[in-house]
Amino acid sequence: MVIQSLLPPITMPDTGLIEFLFKNTHNTPEDRKLFIDAFTGESLTYGKLKDNVLRFAATLQDKFNFKRGDVVAIYSPNQMDYSVPLLGTVAAGGAVSPANPAYTSTELAYQLEKTSAKILIAHETNVEMSLKSADMVGLSRSRVFVFGKNQVQGIAPWSQVFMGERRATLITLTAQEAKEAVAYLCFSSGTTGKSKGVMTTHANITANVLQYEGLEGASVNGNKDRMIGVLPFFHIFGLSLLIHVAIYLGIPVYVMPKFDLVKFCETIQKEKITFSCLVPPIILLLAKHPIVDNYDLSSLKVVTCGAAPLSAELSQQTKRRLPTMIVKQGYGLTETTTSAALEPTDGVVSGSIGFLLPSISAKIVDDDGAELSTGQRGELWLKGPNIMKGYINNLEATAECIDKEEYFHTGDIAVQDQDGRLYIVDRKKSLIKYKGFQVPPAELEGVLFTSPMVADCAVIGVYDASQATELPRGYITLVANVPATEETAKTIKKFVADQVVYYKQLRSIVFIDEIPKSSSGKTLHRVLRNAAAEEQVTQ
Ligand code: AMP
Repeated sequence: MVIQSLLPPITMPDTGLIEFLFKNTHNTPEDRKLFIDAFTGESLTYGKLKDNVLRFAATLQDKFNFKRGDVVAIYSPNQMDYSVPLLGTVAAGGAVSPANPAYTSTELAYQLEKTSAKILIAHETNVEMSLKSADMVGLSRSRVFVFGKNQVQGIAPWSQVFMGERRATLITLTAQEAKEAVAYLCFSSGTTGKSKGVMTTHANITANVLQYEGLEGASVNGNKDRMIGVLPFFHIFGLSLLIHVAIYLGIPVYVMPKFDLVKFCETIQKEKITFSCLVPPIILLLAKHPIVDNYDLSSLKVVTCGAAPLSAELSQQTKRRLPTMIVKQGYGLTETTTSAALEPTDGVVSGSIGFLLPSISAKIVDDDGAELSTGQRGELWLKGPNIMKGYINNLEATAECIDKEEYFHTGDIAVQDQDGRLYIVDRKKSLIKYKGFQVPPAELEGVLFTSPMVADCAVIGVYDASQATELPRGYITLVANVPATEETAKTIKKFVADQVVYYKQLRSIVFIDEIPKSSSGKTLHRVLRNAAAEEQVTQ
């Protein structure tokens, strides 16, 4: 059975992304502060944003011989002016690859290399790491710039270099060109293997903004609403909602470079934040942390939770504590330009991801790809204008997940109830999500295999309700004569921790005689996940 969105389809404009955003469909006044630093109060107005974007684009073209398809990488926590190099690059016909600011130099170098980035813009605290990564991939240090107004370790601030007099003329794209031109390259491991650059086109983002508007347009409005920008801009959820939807609808965003519960609550209370996009571990704090009682959060009417599963129980706990706030769940992937399904504000059912967004169709299928019906669990396949173009320079991985009928195979297990609501009930792929961040098991297994202590290994996620997240666990078969002791586990954990970003670290290690394998030698992560789930039940 093919499931169709119940909402009217979107109409795609005959333009590229920046033209679409700057058309100002919602009559945002030029002097509206769109991005405000929640810590310092510094702000960027809509008018200034547009002007700076065009100056940035002009500099790329004039000083850096920037061509269509060239890539700029951004390696920074959320910044009030993050959207300037971001949209400026896209306005110049290029693509941006936003990297996690907590990445190690090896992880960043991997992303720079895979995207052939020509320029890197980093936060001041990341300069040293940036230079290391640039050296690793042969990117000239003169192509590295820093956010802010000051030079750091000899690296110039982008605001000095890129804010010249000339304003670029917007490159116009037809609807067909907008479907081809890549705007963003976020990284995702997809259903298998290591992280890959997801080619998100101009049309993908435009579609997702319009799809969001199709569902929420009547209830959100730049004249009355305010969002808090705590989700990272480098992840597609923050990138799409907090930057593109915010600019399109003219909604001010109070930008938080890092999460801090007190500042978060203070900002909601002081700025009368009306809605917000969050992840389950923050919802957990709202439901349980004592500090929350010290603040009046009643302005916060709607919270959309995504990037990882939100249990019905947690959603109900939050409702009991903050009864005026609606917590609804959205579902999507980097590959679907974030949201593919979302609960309607006026009909939330805890645990559900709601209904498909406009112009999306879906199938729930069994292991042979046969369509299932209502009430039957199977892999969720999605089709629509927000599905990525593919993985950069990786036709094979693209062909593995997008079929000939253009359905994208999500690797998530879903079920539809009698009312048409969708639920994500399991994951077929081995991906782990730590607080909304991707932890690809294949990457950690790759690191573990380089340890002289490890003969074989597999990494899975184990759900920890007390933190509302999965935690990476390594199953390890040791080489002969290495003892299965606490000390060995510690050494292996440190070995991994030294090479990966904090959220990919192994939180537990289990020694095992043999890693379960299929007859073709593939690791059976599912067997380990089932065993771990049972263990939790019997504990
Ligand atoms: P990412 O590409 O980082 O957004 O990760 C996408 C993956 O996160 C999906 O394939 C799901 O496994 C998981 N995910 C995202 N949203 C939800 C949700 N609401 N419920 C369950 N899993 C989710």
